[in-house]
Amino acid sequence: MRIGAIGTSQILHAIRNTQHEIRNTKYATRTMTFEHDVVVVGAGGSGLMAALYAREGGADVGVVSKLHPLRSHTGAAQGGIAAALGNEEEDHWLWHAFDTVKGSDYVGDQDAIEALCKDAPRTIVELEHYGVPFSRNEAGKISQRRFGGHTRNFGEAPVKRSCHAADRTGHTILHTLYDQCTKQGVRFYDEFQVLDLIMTEDGECAGVVAYEILTGEIHTFHAKQVCFATGGYGRAFETTSNAHAGTGDGMGIMLRNGIPLEDMEFVQFHPTGLYRLGILITEGARGEGGILRNSEGERFMERYAPTVKDLAPRDLVSQCIYQEIREGRGVQGENYVHLDLTHLDNAILDNKLPEVTEFSRTYMGVDPKEEPIPVVPTCHYAMGGIPANEDGHVEVGERGEYVPGLYAVGECACVSIHGANRLGTNALLELVVMGRRTGIEMAKQVRQGKDYAPLPEKPEADTRDMLDDLLSNTRDEGEPIVNVRSELQETMMENVSVFRNDDTLSTALDDLQGLRKRAKNVVVDDKSKRFNTDLMDAVEVGFMVDYAEAIAAGARHRTESRGAHSREDYEERNDEDWLKHTLFHSDANGSYEFDDKEVVITRFEPKERSY
Ligand SMILES: Cc1cc2nc3c(=O)[nH]c(=O)nc-3n(C[C@H](O)[C@H](O)[C@H](O)COP(=O)(O)OP(=O)(O)OC[C@H]3O[C@@H](n4cnc5c(N)ncnc54)[C@H](O)[C@@H]3O)c2cc1C
Repeated sequence: MRIGAIGTSQILHAIRNTQHEIRNTKYATRTMTFEHDVVVVGAGGSGLMAALYAREGGADVGVVSKLHPLRSHTGAAQGGIAAALGNEEEDHWLWHAFDTVKGSDYVGDQDAIEALCKDAPRTIVELEHYGVPFSRNEAGKISQRRFGGHTRNFGEAPVKRSCHAADRTGHTILHTLYDQCTKQGVRFYDEFQVLDLIMTEDGECAGVVAYEILTGEIHTFHAKQVCFATGGYGRAFETTSNAHAGTGDGMGIMLRNGIPLEDMEFVQFHPTGLYRLGILITEGARGEGGILRNSEGERFMERYAPTVKDLAPRDLVSQCIYQEIREGRGVQGENYVHLDLTHLDNAILDNKLPEVTEFSRTYMGVDPKEEPIPVVPTCHYAMGGIPANEDGHVEVGERGEYVPGLYAVGECACVSIHGANRLGTNALLELVVMGRRTGIEMAKQVRQGKDYAPLPEKPEADTRDMLDDLLSNTRDEGEPIVNVRSELQETMMENVSVFRNDDTLSTALDDLQGLRKRAKNVVVDDKSKRFNTDLMDAVEVGFMVDYAEAIAAGARHRTESRGAHSREDYEERNDEDWLKHTLFHSDANGSYEFDDKEVVITRFEPKERSY
C-alpha cells in the first residue's frame, strides 16, 4: 500500500483488518477466518462499484477475487456504455428504456429498466468525475456512437448513445474503480477463489468459503452481507468472447446451495466474433459504419431489418448470419460472413477502433483497412443468472422474498434488465448503476444493525471434502479434466446455441447427465498446494456441468422463440403462455424443476418486434 496515497482512516482500517486476521487465526490451524461487514465476491466493474459504495456508506469491505481485479473481464469491454446524454443528437432516457424493453423481447422487468435508463446520464458524469477518460467530440463533450437496437423516438432511426473511451471503455472503467476502491480503503483478497456459500439453518447467509490459490489453504469469510459479482459463463461454450475465467462459478455455487437460477435459457451470441477464434470485434465497428456482407458481397441485413440494418439487436443479427450460412451464402462456402470496414476513414479506425484493427491483424492476419474481416457469432453474455432485485437482494421465490444477507450484481445476476436479449452497452451500465445501488443497500443494512449470522461449526468441511475427493481420483477410474470440459463445450455449442429444438436440447441434457458423473472423477495430476490451477479447473468443470443443465433444461422447457432463444420447433413468440420468467431449482444431482415469476410491465405493452 502506498502510504502517501491514503489517509489516517484508511490506515486505521487496514490495522483493524490485520487484527481480525491475527485474532481469528489463533482459533484455527490452517484455516483463517476473516471478518468484514461486507464481503464482495468478484472484482469486475459490478463488484468494485458495490464495494466502493458500501465503503462510502461506512461499511468495512473485503473484496475476494480469483483474479487480480484488473484482470476481470470488464477490462475487455470495448464498445461503450449507454446513456441518453444527447451529446451528438437529441435523446431521452425514455427512448433508451423503450429500446431496452423492446430489445429484451418484452420479458425484461420494466421497473428495473426504467431505474437503469433514468440513472444512466448521472452515472456517466460520476464515472467521469472519478477519472474515466472518455473520448470527446468536437464540441469537447463526451463522444457517443451508435449501437445495435438503440434508437431515437421509439424506433424511428439509430441514435448515438454509447459513451466510450476509444474501444477500451471497460479497461478505463475497471482501472478507475479499482483506484477509487484502493483510495477508500477497501480490502482486497486477490487470487482467492470462492468455492462455497455459508448458510445458516434459518436460511441466512453468513459468509463464503475460499481457496487461497497461492497457498492451497481454505479460509472462511464471515460477513454481515455477502455480494456475488462473479461474472458470466461464456466458457461453457466452445466458441466464446469471454476470458478463461468466465466459468460462471457463482451460478454453480448458488445451485449447490439450493438457490434457483432465473431465465438461464437466454444466452447471447454476439454476431461478430473472429472466425474460428470467437475473439470479439465490437459492435462499435458497425456503430461507426461497418457493414456485414455475405458471399455475394450483399449487405444482407437490409433484407431482414430495413430500418436499422446492421444495427439491429444482436439476437436478430446472429440469427440472420446463421440463416445466410445455412442458405449457402457463407463466404467461400465456409461458415462465416464478412464485416466490411474498408470504406471507413483511416482516422476512425485509428482513433475510435484501434483494438479492432489490432485484433484482426494479430489474430487473423487481416488488415481491416484493406480487406473485410471474417466473422461468426460467438457466445458472449448471460442474460439469466442469480435472481436479484434492483438493490441486489437475491430473491428466491415471489418478489420481496429475500435471502437475508445475500446479494448478486453484474453479469452473474438476473435483475432482469436484459430479458431475452441484451442491447450492447447496457451491460457496463448495469454494472455501475446496480453496483452502486447494491453497495448503498448493503451499507444501509449494516448501519441499521444487521449483524453477523452465526457460523456453523466447520463451515469449510464440505469444501475440504470436495477437494480431497478430487485429489484422490486416480487415472484408473478417472480421466483428464480437459476431456470433460471439451465435451461439455462441444455439446453446448452444437445443441444449445443460436438455433435449438427439442432433439438438440434432449441430446445436450443426456450428454450432461453423463458429464456430471465424469466431472466428479476427473484426475488432478498436480497434487501440490501452491498455485494448483489444475485443482481449480476441476472444481470449475463441476460448476459448469451444474448450470449448463439449467441452460439446456430451461431452453427445452420454454416452448416458444423469444429474443436470443430461438426454437426451430416453436418459431413464434407466445405471450399467452410464456410472458414470464423461469426459475430453475436443482438438487445438483440431475433432478430439477421450474417455477414461474411474473414480468413487471410499467408502460410498454408487448408488441410484435420489428426493426
Ligand atoms: C470481449 C467483451 C467485450 C464486451 N464489451 C462490452 C461493451 O462494450 N459494453 C458493454 O456494456 N458490455 C460489454 N461486454 C459485457 C460486459 O463487459 C460484462 O458483462 C461485464 O464486464 C461483466 O462484469 P462483472 O462485474 O459482472 O464481472 P467480470 O468483470 O467478469 O468479473 C468477474 C469477477 O469475479 C471474480 N470471480 C469469478 N469467480 C470467482 C470465484 N469463484 N471466486 C472469487 N472470485 C471470482 C473474477 O476474479 C472477477 O474479478 C463485453 C464482454 C466481453 C466478454
